[in-house]
Amino acid sequence: MQGNLQYMNNDNSTVNPASRRERGLKFWQVARRACQIAAAVDISFFFMFHFLGSPILAWINVGSVAMYAAAYYALERRQNRLAIALIWLEVIVHSALGTIMLGWGSGFHYYLLMFIPALCISSVRRSTIYSLLIGLWGYYIALDILMWFIEPVQPISPEALLGVHLFNLSVVFAMFAYLSFFYMSMVVSAQRKLRKLATVDSLTGLFNRRHGSDLADNEIARFRRVGRPVTFMLLDVDHFKPINDRYGHEMGDKILAEIGQLIPAQLRTQDIVARWGGEEFLVILPDTRLESALASAERIRVALRSHDWKMVTGEPIDVTTSVGVSEMYENDDRGSVIGRADRALYRGKAGGRNRVECGGAPEQ
Ligand code: GH3
Ligand code: MG
Ligand code: MG
Repeated sequence: MQGNLQYMNNDNSTVNPASRRERGLKFWQVARRACQIAAAVDISFFFMFHFLGSPILAWINVGSVAMYAAAYYALERRQNRLAIALIWLEVIVHSALGTIMLGWGSGFHYYLLMFIPALCISSVRRSTIYSLLIGLWGYYIALDILMWFIEPVQPISPEALLGVHLFNLSVVFAMFAYLSFFYMSMVVSAQRKLRKLATVDSLTGLFNRRHGSDLADNEIARFRRVGRPVTFMLLDVDHFKPINDRYGHEMGDKILAEIGQLIPAQLRTQDIVARWGGEEFLVILPDTRLESALASAERIRVALRSHDWKMVTGEPIDVTTSVGVSEMYENDDRGSVIGRADRALYRGKAGGRNRVECGGAPEQ
Protein backbone atom coordinates (compact mmCIF):
# COMPACT_ATOMS: atom_id res chain seq x y z
CA MET A 1 0.00 0.00 0.00
CA GLN A 2 1.09 3.49 -0.69
CA GLY A 3 2.78 5.70 1.92
CA ASN A 4 0.31 8.48 2.37
CA LEU A 5 -2.46 6.14 3.37
CA GLN A 6 -1.19 6.54 6.89
CA TYR A 7 -2.81 9.97 6.75
CA MET A 8 -6.20 8.48 5.88
CA ASN A 9 -8.87 10.68 7.27
CA ASN A 10 -11.08 7.79 8.22
CA ASP A 11 -12.68 9.47 11.21
CA ASN A 12 -13.26 12.65 9.23
CA SER A 13 -11.92 14.53 12.23
CA THR A 14 -10.79 18.10 11.89
CA VAL A 15 -10.25 20.86 14.41
CA ASN A 16 -13.97 21.21 14.92
CA PRO A 17 -16.27 21.50 17.93
CA ALA A 18 -16.31 17.69 18.22
CA SER A 19 -12.55 17.42 18.62
CA ARG A 20 -12.55 20.38 21.02
CA ARG A 21 -15.15 18.52 23.05
CA GLU A 22 -12.97 15.43 22.91
CA ARG A 23 -10.02 17.43 24.28
CA GLY A 24 -12.29 18.90 26.95
CA LEU A 25 -13.44 15.42 27.92
CA LYS A 26 -9.81 14.35 28.26
CA PHE A 27 -9.14 17.32 30.55
CA TRP A 28 -12.03 16.42 32.85
CA GLN A 29 -10.91 12.82 32.80
CA VAL A 30 -7.52 14.00 34.08
CA ALA A 31 -9.28 16.16 36.68
CA ARG A 32 -11.20 13.09 37.92
CA ARG A 33 -7.98 11.11 38.10
CA ALA A 34 -6.34 14.01 40.01
CA CYS A 35 -9.21 13.90 42.55
CA GLN A 36 -8.63 10.18 43.09
CA ILE A 37 -4.89 10.65 43.53
CA ALA A 38 -5.35 13.62 45.88
CA ALA A 39 -7.88 11.66 47.98
CA ALA A 40 -5.43 8.72 48.18
CA VAL A 41 -2.68 11.10 49.31
CA ASP A 42 -4.96 12.55 51.99
CA ILE A 43 -5.90 9.07 53.24
CA SER A 44 -2.21 8.33 53.70
CA PHE A 45 -1.87 11.67 55.53
CA PHE A 46 -4.67 10.61 57.87
CA PHE A 47 -2.72 7.56 59.00
CA MET A 48 0.61 9.38 58.93
CA PHE A 49 -0.57 12.17 61.25
CA HIS A 50 -2.25 9.73 63.60
CA PHE A 51 1.03 7.91 63.80
CA LEU A 52 2.90 11.21 64.36
CA GLY A 53 0.49 12.20 67.14
CA SER A 54 -1.27 15.09 65.34
CA PRO A 55 -4.94 14.11 65.52
CA ILE A 56 -6.17 17.55 64.39
CA LEU A 57 -4.19 17.32 61.17
CA ALA A 58 -5.31 13.72 60.74
CA TRP A 59 -8.99 14.75 60.91
CA ILE A 60 -8.43 17.69 58.57
CA ASN A 61 -7.60 15.04 55.98
CA VAL A 62 -10.93 13.35 56.48
CA GLY A 63 -12.53 16.66 55.48
CA SER A 64 -10.19 16.84 52.49
CA VAL A 65 -11.09 13.35 51.31
CA ALA A 66 -14.78 14.26 51.60
CA MET A 67 -14.17 17.37 49.46
CA TYR A 68 -12.33 15.39 46.79
CA ALA A 69 -15.09 12.79 46.78
CA ALA A 70 -17.63 15.60 46.32
CA ALA A 71 -15.50 17.13 43.53
CA TYR A 72 -15.24 13.71 41.86
CA TYR A 73 -19.00 13.20 41.86
CA ALA A 74 -19.54 16.78 40.68
CA LEU A 75 -17.24 16.00 37.73
CA GLU A 76 -19.20 12.82 37.01
CA ARG A 77 -22.38 14.89 36.88
CA ARG A 78 -20.59 17.49 34.74
CA GLN A 79 -20.86 20.15 37.43
CA ASN A 80 -17.35 21.19 36.50
CA ARG A 81 -17.39 24.66 38.05
CA LEU A 82 -18.47 23.28 41.40
CA ALA A 83 -15.76 20.61 41.21
CA ILE A 84 -13.05 23.15 40.42
CA ALA A 85 -14.25 25.42 43.27
CA LEU A 86 -14.09 22.48 45.70
CA ILE A 87 -10.58 21.52 44.57
CA TRP A 88 -9.33 25.12 44.87
CA LEU A 89 -10.89 25.49 48.31
CA GLU A 90 -9.42 22.23 49.53
CA VAL A 91 -5.89 22.99 48.36
CA ILE A 92 -5.93 26.59 49.61
CA VAL A 93 -7.26 25.70 53.06
CA HIS A 94 -5.27 22.48 53.44
CA SER A 95 -1.92 23.96 52.45
CA ALA A 96 -2.45 26.91 54.84
CA LEU A 97 -3.57 24.71 57.74
CA GLY A 98 -0.73 22.25 57.22
CA THR A 99 1.80 25.10 57.07
CA ILE A 100 0.41 26.89 60.15
CA MET A 101 0.22 23.67 62.17
CA LEU A 102 3.60 22.14 61.25
CA GLY A 103 5.60 25.09 59.91
CA TRP A 104 6.91 26.22 56.53
CA GLY A 105 9.34 23.29 56.50
CA SER A 106 6.46 20.82 56.16
CA GLY A 107 6.26 21.73 52.48
CA PHE A 108 2.44 21.93 52.43
CA HIS A 109 2.71 25.26 50.61
CA TYR A 110 4.18 23.48 47.54
CA TYR A 111 0.67 22.30 46.65
CA LEU A 112 -0.30 25.90 45.89
CA LEU A 113 2.25 25.91 43.07
CA MET A 114 0.24 23.19 41.32
CA PHE A 115 -2.28 25.87 40.39
CA ILE A 116 0.20 27.73 38.16
CA PRO A 117 0.31 25.16 35.30
CA ALA A 118 -3.29 24.09 35.96
CA LEU A 119 -4.45 27.71 35.54
CA CYS A 120 -2.31 28.33 32.48
CA ILE A 121 -3.76 25.38 30.55
CA SER A 122 -7.34 26.09 31.61
CA SER A 123 -9.67 27.60 29.06
CA VAL A 124 -10.80 30.64 31.06
CA ARG A 125 -10.12 34.15 29.80
CA ARG A 126 -6.53 35.39 29.89
CA SER A 127 -7.41 38.33 32.13
CA THR A 128 -9.04 35.92 34.61
CA ILE A 129 -5.90 33.76 34.57
CA TYR A 130 -3.73 36.82 35.32
CA SER A 131 -5.98 37.88 38.22
CA LEU A 132 -6.02 34.39 39.70
CA LEU A 133 -2.24 34.07 39.34
CA ILE A 134 -1.70 37.39 41.12
CA GLY A 135 -4.16 36.32 43.84
CA LEU A 136 -2.33 33.02 44.25
CA TRP A 137 1.04 34.76 44.41
CA GLY A 138 -0.31 37.18 47.08
CA TYR A 139 -1.67 34.27 49.12
CA TYR A 140 1.61 32.35 48.88
CA ILE A 141 3.64 35.40 49.96
CA ALA A 142 1.22 36.16 52.80
CA LEU A 143 1.53 32.60 54.10
CA ASP A 144 5.33 32.78 53.88
CA ILE A 145 5.47 36.12 55.74
CA LEU A 146 3.06 34.84 58.38
CA MET A 147 5.31 31.86 59.08
CA TRP A 148 8.25 34.24 59.63
CA PHE A 149 6.38 35.76 62.56
CA ILE A 150 4.54 32.86 64.21
CA GLU A 151 5.64 29.51 65.53
CA PRO A 152 4.00 26.32 64.21
CA VAL A 153 0.84 25.59 66.20
CA GLN A 154 1.42 21.84 66.49
CA PRO A 155 5.13 21.17 65.85
CA ILE A 156 6.39 17.66 65.29
CA SER A 157 9.89 16.22 65.69
CA PRO A 158 12.53 17.37 63.12
CA GLU A 159 12.76 13.82 61.73
CA ALA A 160 9.00 13.60 61.28
CA LEU A 161 8.99 17.09 59.73
CA LEU A 162 11.67 16.00 57.26
CA GLY A 163 9.56 12.93 56.40
CA VAL A 164 6.43 15.08 55.81
CA HIS A 165 8.49 17.57 53.82
CA LEU A 166 9.96 14.88 51.54
CA PHE A 167 6.57 13.24 51.10
CA ASN A 168 4.93 16.53 50.08
CA LEU A 169 7.81 17.41 47.79
CA SER A 170 7.58 14.02 46.07
CA VAL A 171 3.80 14.19 45.61
CA VAL A 172 4.01 17.68 44.10
CA PHE A 173 6.90 16.56 41.90
CA ALA A 174 4.89 13.58 40.60
CA MET A 175 1.80 15.72 40.02
CA PHE A 176 3.81 18.29 38.05
CA ALA A 177 5.23 15.50 35.92
CA TYR A 178 1.75 14.03 35.33
CA LEU A 179 0.30 17.41 34.39
CA SER A 180 3.22 18.17 32.08
CA PHE A 181 2.86 14.85 30.27
CA PHE A 182 -0.84 15.48 29.86
CA TYR A 183 -0.15 18.95 28.50
CA MET A 184 2.50 17.62 26.12
CA SER A 185 0.20 14.92 24.77
CA MET A 186 -2.50 17.56 24.22
CA VAL A 187 -0.07 19.79 22.30
CA VAL A 188 1.28 16.89 20.22
CA SER A 189 -2.20 15.68 19.27
CA ALA A 190 -3.30 19.24 18.37
CA GLN A 191 -0.17 19.63 16.23
CA ARG A 192 -0.84 16.32 14.49
CA LYS A 193 -4.40 17.38 13.71
CA LEU A 194 -3.28 20.73 12.32
CA ARG A 195 -0.64 19.05 10.18
CA LYS A 196 -3.21 16.64 8.82
CA LEU A 197 -5.59 19.51 8.09
CA ALA A 198 -2.90 21.39 6.22
CA THR A 199 -1.66 18.48 4.12
CA VAL A 200 -4.49 16.01 3.61
CA ASP A 201 -7.59 16.18 1.42
CA SER A 202 -10.47 15.26 3.71
CA LEU A 203 -12.58 13.50 1.05
CA THR A 204 -10.01 11.06 -0.29
CA GLY A 205 -7.42 10.93 2.48
CA LEU A 206 -4.75 11.69 -0.12
CA PHE A 207 -2.39 14.65 0.08
CA ASN A 208 -3.94 17.93 -1.00
CA ARG A 209 -2.67 19.98 -3.93
CA ARG A 210 -0.49 22.29 -1.85
CA HIS A 211 1.31 19.44 -0.12
CA GLY A 212 1.50 17.50 -3.40
CA SER A 213 3.30 20.50 -4.94
CA ASP A 214 5.74 20.66 -2.01
CA LEU A 215 6.49 16.96 -2.31
CA ALA A 216 6.95 17.33 -6.07
CA ASP A 217 9.48 20.12 -5.39
CA ASN A 218 11.33 17.85 -2.95
CA GLU A 219 11.60 15.12 -5.57
CA ILE A 220 12.70 17.59 -8.24
CA ALA A 221 15.40 18.90 -5.88
CA ARG A 222 16.57 15.30 -5.33
CA PHE A 223 16.62 14.76 -9.10
CA ARG A 224 18.88 17.79 -9.49
CA ARG A 225 21.09 16.86 -6.52
CA VAL A 226 21.71 13.18 -7.18
CA GLY A 227 20.28 12.69 -10.66
CA ARG A 228 17.72 10.07 -9.59
CA PRO A 229 14.88 9.87 -12.15
CA VAL A 230 11.39 11.03 -11.21
CA THR A 231 8.17 10.65 -13.17
CA PHE A 232 4.80 12.36 -12.88
CA MET A 233 1.31 11.15 -13.70
CA LEU A 234 -1.84 13.22 -14.05
CA LEU A 235 -5.11 11.28 -13.91
CA ASP A 236 -8.55 12.64 -14.69
CA VAL A 237 -11.76 10.66 -14.28
CA ASP A 238 -13.59 10.42 -17.59
CA HIS A 239 -17.07 11.89 -17.94
CA PHE A 240 -17.40 12.47 -14.24
CA LYS A 241 -19.99 15.18 -14.64
CA PRO A 242 -22.56 12.77 -16.12
CA ILE A 243 -21.82 10.36 -13.23
CA ASN A 244 -22.57 13.15 -10.77
CA ASP A 245 -25.68 14.12 -12.70
CA ARG A 246 -26.96 10.57 -12.73
CA TYR A 247 -26.08 9.34 -9.24
CA GLY A 248 -25.90 12.61 -7.33
CA HIS A 249 -23.00 14.58 -5.91
CA GLU A 250 -22.83 12.49 -2.75
CA MET A 251 -22.36 9.30 -4.73
CA GLY A 252 -19.77 11.16 -6.81
CA ASP A 253 -17.93 11.88 -3.57
CA LYS A 254 -18.01 8.22 -2.61
CA ILE A 255 -16.58 7.26 -5.99
CA LEU A 256 -13.77 9.81 -5.57
CA ALA A 257 -13.03 8.46 -2.08
CA GLU A 258 -12.86 4.92 -3.50
CA ILE A 259 -10.52 6.10 -6.26
CA GLY A 260 -8.41 7.65 -3.49
CA GLN A 261 -7.89 4.11 -2.18
CA LEU A 262 -7.58 2.32 -5.51
CA ILE A 263 -4.77 4.46 -6.94
CA PRO A 264 -2.33 4.04 -4.02
CA ALA A 265 -3.11 0.31 -3.89
CA GLN A 266 -1.49 -0.09 -7.34
CA LEU A 267 1.69 1.76 -6.34
CA ARG A 268 4.77 1.37 -4.15
CA THR A 269 5.08 2.76 -0.64
CA GLN A 270 7.38 5.57 -1.76
CA ASP A 271 5.04 6.79 -4.51
CA ILE A 272 3.10 9.92 -3.69
CA VAL A 273 -0.54 10.53 -4.59
CA ALA A 274 -2.28 13.88 -4.29
CA ARG A 275 -5.73 15.11 -5.19
CA TRP A 276 -4.81 17.74 -7.74
CA GLY A 277 -8.28 19.11 -8.41
CA GLY A 278 -11.94 17.99 -8.39
CA GLU A 279 -11.61 14.60 -10.12
CA GLU A 280 -7.97 14.95 -11.03
CA PHE A 281 -5.01 13.28 -9.29
CA LEU A 282 -1.25 13.76 -9.37
CA VAL A 283 1.10 10.82 -8.81
CA ILE A 284 4.81 11.33 -8.20
CA LEU A 285 6.98 8.28 -8.81
CA PRO A 286 10.47 8.73 -7.38
CA ASP A 287 13.33 6.66 -8.81
CA THR A 288 11.15 5.68 -11.75
CA ARG A 289 11.77 5.84 -15.49
CA LEU A 290 9.05 6.55 -18.00
CA GLU A 291 8.58 2.91 -19.07
CA SER A 292 7.79 1.62 -15.60
CA ALA A 293 5.67 4.71 -14.87
CA LEU A 294 3.62 3.91 -17.99
CA ALA A 295 3.18 0.36 -16.69
CA SER A 296 1.99 1.70 -13.30
CA ALA A 297 -0.41 4.08 -15.05
CA GLU A 298 -1.80 1.20 -17.06
CA ARG A 299 -2.25 -0.81 -13.84
CA ILE A 300 -4.24 2.04 -12.32
CA ARG A 301 -6.36 2.47 -15.46
CA VAL A 302 -7.24 -1.24 -15.47
CA ALA A 303 -7.85 -1.33 -11.71
CA LEU A 304 -10.37 1.54 -11.91
CA ARG A 305 -12.04 0.14 -14.96
CA SER A 306 -12.40 -3.39 -13.56
CA HIS A 307 -13.31 -2.40 -10.00
CA ASP A 308 -16.58 -3.73 -8.67
CA TRP A 309 -18.34 -0.35 -8.56
CA LYS A 310 -21.63 -2.02 -7.70
CA MET A 311 -20.35 -2.19 -4.12
CA VAL A 312 -20.28 1.61 -4.08
CA THR A 313 -23.13 2.70 -6.34
CA GLY A 314 -25.48 -0.26 -6.01
CA GLU A 315 -25.47 -0.91 -9.76
CA PRO A 316 -22.74 -1.64 -12.30
CA ILE A 317 -21.15 1.53 -13.62
CA ASP A 318 -18.19 2.34 -15.84
CA VAL A 319 -15.54 4.46 -14.18
CA THR A 320 -12.58 5.13 -16.43
CA THR A 321 -9.66 7.49 -16.31
CA SER A 322 -7.30 9.09 -18.76
CA VAL A 323 -3.69 9.39 -17.68
CA GLY A 324 -0.81 11.55 -18.89
CA VAL A 325 2.72 10.52 -17.89
CA SER A 326 5.94 12.55 -18.13
CA GLU A 327 9.50 12.08 -16.94
CA MET A 328 11.62 14.87 -15.49
CA TYR A 329 14.39 16.16 -17.77
CA GLU A 330 17.43 18.31 -16.99
CA ASN A 331 15.95 21.61 -18.19
CA ASP A 332 12.48 20.95 -16.69
CA ASP A 333 10.85 22.62 -13.74
CA ARG A 334 7.68 21.58 -11.91
CA GLY A 335 5.44 23.55 -14.25
CA SER A 336 6.95 22.19 -17.44
CA VAL A 337 7.07 18.53 -16.45
CA ILE A 338 3.51 18.51 -15.07
CA GLY A 339 2.43 20.58 -18.07
CA ARG A 340 3.67 17.83 -20.38
CA ALA A 341 1.70 15.24 -18.39
CA ASP A 342 -1.34 17.52 -18.64
CA ARG A 343 -1.04 17.86 -22.41
CA ALA A 344 -0.62 14.08 -22.70
CA LEU A 345 -3.74 13.64 -20.55
CA TYR A 346 -5.76 15.81 -22.89
CA ARG A 347 -4.45 13.92 -25.87
CA GLY A 348 -5.84 10.85 -24.09
CA LYS A 349 -9.21 12.61 -23.72
CA ALA A 350 -9.22 13.67 -27.35
CA GLY A 351 -8.20 10.14 -28.40
CA GLY A 352 -11.30 8.60 -26.86
CA ARG A 353 -10.50 8.51 -23.07
CA ASN A 354 -9.77 5.48 -20.87
CA ARG A 355 -6.15 5.47 -21.98
CA VAL A 356 -2.59 6.24 -20.93
CA GLU A 357 -0.58 8.77 -22.94
CA CYS A 358 3.11 9.48 -22.80
CA GLY A 359 4.32 13.09 -22.32
CA GLY A 360 7.61 12.62 -24.22
CA ALA A 361 10.63 14.91 -24.01
CA PRO A 362 10.50 18.70 -23.54
CA GLU A 363 10.68 20.84 -26.65
CA GLN A 364 14.13 22.39 -27.12
P1 GH3 B 1 -13.83 14.59 -18.99
O1 GH3 B 1 -13.88 13.18 -19.41
O2 GH3 B 1 -13.59 15.51 -20.14
O3 GH3 B 1 -12.88 14.81 -17.88
O4 GH3 B 1 -15.29 14.92 -18.47
P2 GH3 B 1 -15.74 15.32 -17.03
O5 GH3 B 1 -17.19 15.31 -16.99
O6 GH3 B 1 -15.05 14.49 -16.03
O7 GH3 B 1 -15.11 16.76 -16.93
P3 GH3 B 1 -15.63 18.12 -16.42
O8 GH3 B 1 -14.42 18.95 -16.12
O9 GH3 B 1 -16.64 18.69 -17.37
O10 GH3 B 1 -16.38 17.81 -15.09
C1 GH3 B 1 -15.73 17.47 -13.92
C2 GH3 B 1 -16.81 17.18 -12.92
O11 GH3 B 1 -16.25 16.75 -11.68
C3 GH3 B 1 -17.64 18.39 -12.64
C4 GH3 B 1 -17.70 18.46 -11.15
O12 GH3 B 1 -19.02 18.60 -10.70
C5 GH3 B 1 -17.15 17.16 -10.70
N1 GH3 B 1 -16.46 17.30 -9.44
C6 GH3 B 1 -15.37 18.03 -9.15
N2 GH3 B 1 -15.04 17.92 -7.84
C7 GH3 B 1 -15.95 17.12 -7.28
C8 GH3 B 1 -16.16 16.63 -5.96
O13 GH3 B 1 -15.43 16.91 -5.02
N3 GH3 B 1 -17.21 15.81 -5.74
C9 GH3 B 1 -18.07 15.47 -6.75
N4 GH3 B 1 -19.06 14.65 -6.48
N5 GH3 B 1 -17.91 15.91 -7.99
C10 GH3 B 1 -16.87 16.73 -8.28
MG1 MG C 1 -11.12 17.41 -14.73
MG1 MG D 1 -12.93 14.45 -15.89
